[in-house]
This record gives sequence, C-alpha cells and structure tokens, in this order.
Amino acid sequence: MAGAGLSGCAAPTPAGGGPFSATDLARAAALRDAALRSPLAWELLQSLVTEVGPRAAGSPGDAKAVAWAQSRMRQLGLAQVRAEPVPLTTWQRGATTAVLTAPSRHELVVTALGNSIGGRELDAELAYYPDFAALRADTTERARGRIVFIDQRTERTRDGSGYSRAVLARFAGAVEAARRGAVAVAIRSLGTDQDRIAHTGAMRYDPQVAAIPAVAVSVPDADLVAQFQASGAPLRMQLRLEATGTVTATSHNVIGEIPGSDLAHEVVLISGHLDTWDISPGAQDNGAGCAISMAAAKVLLDAGHRPSRTVRVVLFANEENGFDGARAYADRYKEVVHQLVGESDFGADRVWRLRSRVAPEALPTVAAIGEVLRPLGIAAEGNDGSPGPDAAMLMRLRKWPAIELTQDGTRYFDVHHTVADTLDKINPATLPQNIAAWAAVAWLAAQSTQRLGPLT
Ligand code: ZN
Ligand code: ZN
Repeated sequence: MAGAGLSGCAAPTPAGGGPFSATDLARAAALRDAALRSPLAWELLQSLVTEVGPRAAGSPGDAKAVAWAQSRMRQLGLAQVRAEPVPLTTWQRGATTAVLTAPSRHELVVTALGNSIGGRELDAELAYYPDFAALRADTTERARGRIVFIDQRTERTRDGSGYSRAVLARFAGAVEAARRGAVAVAIRSLGTDQDRIAHTGAMRYDPQVAAIPAVAVSVPDADLVAQFQASGAPLRMQLRLEATGTVTATSHNVIGEIPGSDLAHEVVLISGHLDTWDISPGAQDNGAGCAISMAAAKVLLDAGHRPSRTVRVVLFANEENGFDGARAYADRYKEVVHQLVGESDFGADRVWRLRSRVAPEALPTVAAIGEVLRPLGIAAEGNDGSPGPDAAMLMRLRKWPAIELTQDGTRYFDVHHTVADTLDKINPATLPQNIAAWAAVAWLAAQSTQRLGPLT
C-alpha cells in the first residue's frame, strides 16, 4: 500500500457530532500507516510454526503453544498476560489406510475425519453419491452394507461460500450414511486443490444412529473414483482404521491486554485460535490469525496512546473440535461489557471487506471506521457480518457486537486442515495490511463515544 494515497482520506462527521474526536481519527490513520510497515506478524508466525508446529488442543504441542504465546505476549509488552484453563476431551486418531480394489487396485490418500471411530477393517462395495443432497434424498436400500462415497465438490470462492455449501458432507455425512445402513463413509476432501493430500476436519455422530468410520480422500483420488463410477464398473474399497480414542485434557485460552483508561472495564476483543488439527502445522489455520492479532496490539502499544477501553488479545483453545475455549470465555466474562469481538481466522491474504453486527444506532460509528479502512482497499458492506468462528460464538451467546474483516479466501481451501498448511503458503507481503486493519478497528472501537451493542 503506497503512503501517498492514505493522507488524503478524510473521515466523515456522522450526524450528532460523531463518535470520534479528530485526534482519535488522526491516530487511527497513523496506526494504520505504521502497521503497513510492520514485519511482526510474519516474524511471530514463523516462530510459532517452526518452533511449535502442530498443536491440537490438549496435546503436548498445544501446551508448547500456550507457553509460546504467553512468552511472546510478555515480550511484546502486553499486560495481564495469562493462560486460563479450558477443560476438554481430545480425540486421538489412529492410522488410516484405504485401497480401491475394484475395478482395479489403487492405494488412496486418506485421512480420518475428526471424531471418527476406529478399530475397523472393512472390505465393501462403494455406494456413490455425487453430493450430500443426493445421499439425503436417497430412500432406497442402496447404501446398506456398503461404504458410502460422497463426491461433494468444494467450489473455489473469495468469501468461503463454496466451503460453506460443502461442509455438511463432512460434518453430517456419517450420520446420513449410517441411517441408510452404510458401514462407513468416505468423502471427497473439502479442498480446492488438485494435490494428493487429504483434508481432515470435524464430524459428529448422532447418539440415536450407529457410529460408522468417516474418512476423506484426496481430490485426485476422488476424481479417480468418479471416473470409475462413470464407467459403470462396480467399485470396491478396503478401509482400515486403527483404534481412535478420547482423552480428558486441559488446554488454555491465552490472553494479553492493553489496559484502558476511563472505560477500562469495557473490552475490545481481537483474536485468533491457537489450536490446529493434529496433522497440520497450521500456518494459515490459524497461526496467521494469532500473529495478526498480536501484531495489531503491538502497533497500538508502540504508538503510545492509552486507549479508553481495554484492548484484549485472546488466542482461543480448541476452535477446531468443539469451541471449548470460546465457551469457557463466554462463561468467565459474561458480566463484562464487550464493546467489540473480532477474530482473524481465514488465512493470511488481504482483507477486502468490512462487515459489522452492531446495534442499529451504532452504524454511524461503523461507517466512520470504514472510512479509515478504505485506503487499505477494504469496502464496508452491511450489518450482517460473522466475525470468525470463536467470536461468532461469543456474539451469539452473549449478544456482543462484532466486526468481520473478510480476508481473500480464494487460496485458503487449497491446504486447509492438511499436512500442507505450511509457511511457504503464506505471502508475507499481505500480512501488514491485515495488521493495519485490525489495529485501526481496535483503536477506534476502544475510543468510540458510542457503544456498539449489545445486540438484540
Ligand atoms: Zn481456523
Ligand atoms: Zn480449521
């Protein structure tokens, strides 16, 4: 982002005097511009991914990540740094293999879906469904005794809507297959790549329906299945899953703050989630969001202006498999006024959109924030936003107002929840724009004379 275009941006003065002083608006612009020169998110991300690596909630890697986050927050100069316990049950995968044995033999690249049962060796015909809707619509006995294959494709989109349309195949495929008598479910990975990597992610059982194994195969392997299916030949698969288990463990929400002044008891929350899937180094998901949020707070600290409200960075525990961190936070802080909740959890590419979810009377405040972000190439679009998964849960549970900074997710689902979510997928040049947007949002939310919520 060139500096020249930034200085000519004048924020509007909303009716009724406006929620921001000229000084606060000028400081927001200065924070934004300083953040564009910050290499900190990249440095933090490199450190987290290389020194910690995979960090599934409750695992030894997670404990290392919690220690890493506290240490880094203290180094950055955040106050009240702490790790708040989050009790949870973790799922542990067993080794999983799949071989297509008819019409010809092919070893498939496969991964168990999160929470799948294991301890099964199966050899069965495939019942092919082009998508999840086709499975749901099936009233025949075709799936009985077979491995259901759901060939649900994930469409590449900037806003992630392709993933949203496909995700039920993963989350609820096992239940729908078991209802029809299937012995297992295999899905096309929810990925927009063409690589032989399998994408994991959460699935759930229904206590009223038999639990069957659930796996995802790589996109090229799903293409192979689809080709055989089109040829009309019967398909057969061997599926072997070693035992999986659940373990009671403790993870932590890691928190650091910039203390407020006159409204210190009100909180502006910016966040990411510290956990990853067990197989993933989690560079995009969600090392980037943790690094962006921490770096945005550091930009505020470096500017040296004490905010009116407290700015709180939260790195949530176990977003991936149960939202235990967000639930624990909602419970612990239910009495605290939250002026804003926001989360960066859609990779590391540029923010292109601002959406809010605030009380209608606070829309002029959001409009003024939007003017400060406009030079970053961010367009303000409406009041039906969803601020990242943990923040969205807080918004729903506590009616706390929220801001969504939508990142460009065009590439995000190429490596989402895979072994390939590594540092080389991050473009270091796009991170500062994210820091700039979050720093300006956090500052302005902290300074606004107007409350953004609660929501009704
Ligand atoms: Zn995530
Ligand atoms: Zn994820």
